[in-house]
Amino acid sequence: MQYVSTRGGGGAESFEGCLLRGLAPDGGLYLPQTWPALAPGQASTPYAERLIDTLSQFGAGAPADLAPLAARALAGFSAPEITPLRQLEPDLYLLELFHGPTAAFKDLAMQAMAQLLESALARRGENLLLLTATSGDTGAAAVRAFAGSRRVQLIALHPKGKVSPMQQRQMTTCTAGNIVNLAVEADFDACQYLVKALLGQMPALDGWRISSVNSINWGRLAGQIPYFQHAAAHLGGAAARFVVPTGNFGDAFSGWAARACGTPMGPILAAVNRNDSLAQTWASGIVLRQKTIPTPSVSMDVQVPSNLERLVFEAAKRNGAPVRAAFEAFAADGRAMLPGDITTRLQSEMQAIAIDNERAAAAMRHAYQAYGEIICPHTAVGLAAARARPHAGPTIVLATAHPGKFADSVKQVIGVAPALTPALEGLDGLPEHSHDCPAEARAVSAWMLRAMGSSDVP
Ligand SMILES: *Cc1c(COP(=O)(O)O)cnc(C)c1O
Repeated sequence: MQYVSTRGGGGAESFEGCLLRGLAPDGGLYLPQTWPALAPGQASTPYAERLIDTLSQFGAGAPADLAPLAARALAGFSAPEITPLRQLEPDLYLLELFHGPTAAFKDLAMQAMAQLLESALARRGENLLLLTATSGDTGAAAVRAFAGSRRVQLIALHPKGKVSPMQQRQMTTCTAGNIVNLAVEADFDACQYLVKALLGQMPALDGWRISSVNSINWGRLAGQIPYFQHAAAHLGGAAARFVVPTGNFGDAFSGWAARACGTPMGPILAAVNRNDSLAQTWASGIVLRQKTIPTPSVSMDVQVPSNLERLVFEAAKRNGAPVRAAFEAFAADGRAMLPGDITTRLQSEMQAIAIDNERAAAAMRHAYQAYGEIICPHTAVGLAAARARPHAGPTIVLATAHPGKFADSVKQVIGVAPALTPALEGLDGLPEHSHDCPAEARAVSAWMLRAMGSSDVP
């Protein structure tokens, strides 16, 4: 399986190359040259089997070599089924993606990616500097997955004061020497912009590579495909609608990819919060940079949904030229107009809806009162979207985080504090380690040099 860039430049790349590079050399994102047909399996197919098959079909290696990696990646999950499907009403389900070590769906792909990267680096005798922007959960999952790695140094940039206290503790209480947390005086989009700029510019020192574990990395998206298959198989052939609470459009695109690989799925509805650039693009064809507004669904406070570029490439019938034109214009001017036929195809491939704080809160109260279910603010955006757009047939809403990660904001809405997982409880009172950092490439690059062991740090 070979990979191409959404901007049409450069040669083909292997799965491992995509994993190690993150971003394509022409600034585009990697996608497989063709979509493989994934085995549908059955409701009883073990999650590990799906993960192994998916990674193998996407070119990560032979199933026998991937089996031990998959076992290690899934070892920290507390639910035997890994991603249980919970029925709320005859035609309404929650897909629980929060049973991993940091209680958000990011664990599912991050744990697998850490295993794949470790094994690739060991084989190549290389070291890797990972630079990651986080709105909270990616950083937590990455810190957890890479802590103590001998070949990886991780620098996680989070917007200072804009992640939940629990998310912050999950990152900053880590004592491993290969982890650096930077609290950046900026919002998430600015952190992501810094990471993208540094990945493009900063030369690696000898023996090092520099990459990212943000969802611009194809490995993240590939690792999220199995749970769509798992959920679809549980409905026994009825093609359900999937509602995906989204920010960087990574999880939603993974759903689209699962369907492109033959998974029986109905419509996909991408639900964003008040940070509604994505929904505006769907309505108008305009990609517009806007200021992020803090909301209770902090991990979705994103106005520049990076993975949109992947679906635009598909909607452009895989012609890189208009994609390059649109996203270069966007990078330069903060605004781009997609050609009309591309916008029309985006609308037919997926739906998008923006949910304000009040509607999300109402959905959270409804879940508690009608089903006795306490859901996190992100899942509430998804449930609100499902309620706002009625659908004939089953709907599966992705439950992306455990409510205990956002205990204060959940309690404000339903008046009851959610129970914490034992892992979350254990973080209380531990010392925190992070460094304040201005939103400047120079400041971050100094940390990068230090992580690569340079004595030349300014
Ligand atoms: C990251 C995150 C999202 C959004 O996922 P994207 O891949 O960025 O679309 C939604 N909910 C939670 C809890 C998250 O951590």
